[in-house]
Amino acid sequence: MSVPFLSARDVNARYADELKAAAARVIDSGWYILGEELAAFEQEFAAYCGVRHAVGVGNGLDALSVILRGYRQLGMLCEGDEVIVPGNTFIASFLAITENRLVPVPVEPDPATFNLDPARVEDAVGPRTRAIMAVHLYGQLADMATLSAVARQRGLLLIEDAAQAHGASIAGRKAGAWGDAAGFSFFPTKNLGALGDGGAVVTDDDALARCIAALRNYGSEVKYHHAYQGINSRLDEMQAAMLRVKLKHLDEDIARRRAVARGYLAAVRHPDILLPSVIDAERHAWHLFVVRSDRRDALQRHLHDLGVQSQIHYPVPPHLQPAYPVLHDVHLPLTERLHREVLSLPMGPTLDEHAMAQVIDACNAFGAAS
Ligand SMILES: *Cc1c(COP(=O)(O)O)cnc(C)c1O
Repeated sequence: MSVPFLSARDVNARYADELKAAAARVIDSGWYILGEELAAFEQEFAAYCGVRHAVGVGNGLDALSVILRGYRQLGMLCEGDEVIVPGNTFIASFLAITENRLVPVPVEPDPATFNLDPARVEDAVGPRTRAIMAVHLYGQLADMATLSAVARQRGLLLIEDAAQAHGASIAGRKAGAWGDAAGFSFFPTKNLGALGDGGAVVTDDDALARCIAALRNYGSEVKYHHAYQGINSRLDEMQAAMLRVKLKHLDEDIARRRAVARGYLAAVRHPDILLPSVIDAERHAWHLFVVRSDRRDALQRHLHDLGVQSQIHYPVPPHLQPAYPVLHDVHLPLTERLHREVLSLPMGPTLDEHAMAQVIDACNAFGAAS
């Protein structure tokens, strides 16, 4: 028997009846863009995150990008301003910045948590720094209390890339409720996944929310009147309806992910496999369970031979991608090392005891270095 990394089909099969009923409701309504499903989902998701506003957009990249675009529109960011971002992140965090003609300033992470290290953030603040983009990598919240204090002291905007961290919290305050604004992705394999693309911005800022609601819809608040040169990036009614079903089950799904993580943490024992460190159970929503090994490629082959799928998040950091030749001279040894060592084990709300045991046994059976 082989263990899939994550089966989106199994994830959705559990709610198939509810999803089909919701789809039928949308089909029969005859209204497919900017309607009641979206308005209801926006309210429900804002309430879930504990913020005033959620604005549905087409995907997670657009969510991040339109936050920065909104701040530009409101005069709070200008072309050439710098945004501090972790060097070890998915490329979308960088793309949102450069798409807005802002300058990403990548910094090294705290290797224990993979997240922004506030001390290194302080060191990176310069005269053109205007914002910090914290990424809650793998589903664990960054040190948001300290980052908020740094942002406040230095007069910087604090933006969350919360694409992997729906439902994670610190002291009851959820991902999305810490920054000035946060971007979420509902890509099908995320902890809260649509059945297609989707994303949302959440914020307590009334002016920003209003601006973004217009920006995503051709810059228009009133049909055929355009306050801004906007884009077309809306969360459609079908995906909003799917997400309303799945949001109801999100906390159960996260609880299941936490149980899988506890199982791995308790039973994987190997000198060449470094387990992730957890500061506090509620702080991690376990989008990914990422181990490190300096024999990563051999470990991946070994797991594969025993029928255990794994993935690498991510093999090449953004600053070394062909897309960013201007960043190739940046040296981030820690980030580069993490990219050589990380391996993501199967993780998801449908992984059963059998599959967990198979993953654990396969890890523990990894041979010694020859
Ligand atoms: C998935 C992801 C995004 C982008 O989301 P999409 O919906 O795929 O555009 C952004 N940042 C991080 C950290 C992600 O994991």
